[in-house]
Amino acid sequence: MAGTIFRVQSHKFSQDNIQTTLVCSKCDQVFSKDFLLDLEGQTIEFKCPVCGTAGETDLPYKSAEEREELDEDIEDIEEEGEEEFEEEY
Ligand SMILES: [Zn+2]
Repeated sequence: MAGTIFRVQSHKFSQDNIQTTLVCSKCDQVFSKDFLLDLEGQTIEFKCPVCGTAGETDLPYKSAEEREELDEDIEDIEEEGEEEFEEEY
C-alpha cells in the first residue's frame, strides 16, 4: 500500500536549498516547499501543509549541467598543479 505521495511538479536549485513545487496525492493541492541541499535525491517524509496528511516525496538530483560546471572547475585546478610539477624536472 502506497501512502500519500507529494509529486515534484517543478524544482530549482539555489545556493542554499532546493525550491520545489509539489502536488499532494491526497488533496490534489499544489504547494511550494524548500529543502536543504544535503537532502538532494533522498526520500523525505513530511506533512502536507494543506490537508495535514503525512506523506513522502523523492527529491530531485541536481541536473547534469550544474554538476559539469563544478567538475570543470576542479579539473582546471588539477591541470595547473600538474604543469607546475613538470617544470621542476
Ligand atoms: Zn494534502
